[in-house]
Amino acid sequence: MLVIVLSVDMNLKQFNDLYPDEKASRDFFASRKWKNDEAICPRCQDDVSSLFADGWRRKCSNCHSIFNPLTGTILQGTRISGRRWLLAIYFATELKPGVSATLLSEVLEVTPVTAQRMLRILKSKLALEVK
Ligand SMILES: [Zn+2]
Repeated sequence: MLVIVLSVDMNLKQFNDLYPDEKASRDFFASRKWKNDEAICPRCQDDVSSLFADGWRRKCSNCHSIFNPLTGTILQGTRISGRRWLLAIYFATELKPGVSATLLSEVLEVTPVTAQRMLRILKSKLALEVK
């Protein structure tokens, strides 16, 4: 389970300062998945792996499987960027009782259908721990 913790008292400027780009967003997911930056292979649980040049994917030194911080989570294989997911999570937790798919679609610059799908995934499967 990938538990996402975002502070709800963060305004949008603070969010953008904290997660200005895709790398910062990916680092956020990696930090939530692996403690102390110790990447664990989801297949064999080995903790030795090499990082690809893209800074995201890893290859396990033991079983040679390729994985990233989202492997084994409901976001595995997503074609939506990490930053868009993180922004969707921010809006889903910040704007209570809930953000509309229309607003999310405009903010994330995705289709309304994609925004609706993202919200459905976030509401149904992803553990959102709000502090
Ligand atoms: Zn492995």
